Amino acid sequence: MTAANTKSCTWTRIVSDSVANQLGIDPERMVWQDWASCKGYPVDGGAHEFFEGYERGDAAFCRTMDSLCNSCPVQKLCGEYAQSQKEEGLWGGIYWTATGRVDKKKNEHKTDEDWKNLAKVYGRRMKPQ
Ligand code: SF4
Repeated sequence: MTAANTKSCTWTRIVSDSVANQLGIDPERMVWQDWASCKGYPVDGGAHEFFEGYERGDAAFCRTMDSLCNSCPVQKLCGEYAQSQKEEGLWGGIYWTATGRVDKKKNEHKTDEDWKNLAKVYGRRMKPQ
């Protein structure tokens, strides 16, 4: 997900309005991106090279970013959003193409165990054929 792509979309509430209020988020304007573990991460050349490292295929870097997504409370929403909106990049622990497909090359560092865990998150097979 990129900061430039935090488009508003409605989603099923996963937290109560009171929790949102405590966190300073207006429940009426709450979007799933409010709960992103990567919220505030620099993108596009920022200090953490959030996406460039992934696109370079640096396996250690990719695993670090995958871990961030795998612990994110909105992982599934994020990945499904990217797929439906055809957003290219790392969303929901998976690198997607601009055609809404799992990018085989950019995800090649993932192990079979990783794909099994992603299948549990998404409720379907995610590993590209
Ligand atoms: S799943 Fe990953 S890319 Fe999506 S919001 Fe969470 S941390 Fe960000």
